[in-house]
Amino acid sequence: MTVKQVPLVDYLHIGARPYLKAKACASCGARFFDRRIACGNCGAQEFQNVRVRNQGVVTSFTIVHRAAPGIPAPYVSAIIETDDGTSVRSNVVNCEPDPERVKLGMKVKLTTYSIGTDDEGTEAIAFGYEPA
Ligand SMILES: [Zn+2]
Repeated sequence: MTVKQVPLVDYLHIGARPYLKAKACASCGARFFDRRIACGNCGAQEFQNVRVRNQGVVTSFTIVHRAAPGIPAPYVSAIIETDDGTSVRSNVVNCEPDPERVKLGMKVKLTTYSIGTDDEGTEAIAFGYEPA
């Protein structure tokens, strides 16, 4: 049986070399994920598709101890600044959710993982960042 994989979000490119796709404002360069009608920074309405670098650092994080039913906790919710300056909200995975393990400025890289397979064999793929 061939397993079909689908990304959890449209801006995740999956495959042998996964990466995130952002919309960069053609006027000021601000980057956004998902569709935008206008730039939140300058109001311009033209965007270019850009590939986001997979490496970055943790610029802010919290360890979440309470979550919706079915979501394993604790987990690390973070803001990652990639090497090209893109700000990404994501979880830090493959890392103990412990303030002694997660550090501001910690180098991380993009990774993907399965979050489940439906009855027809379609697997949903999510992304996170893991220690580099
Ligand atoms: Zn702009």
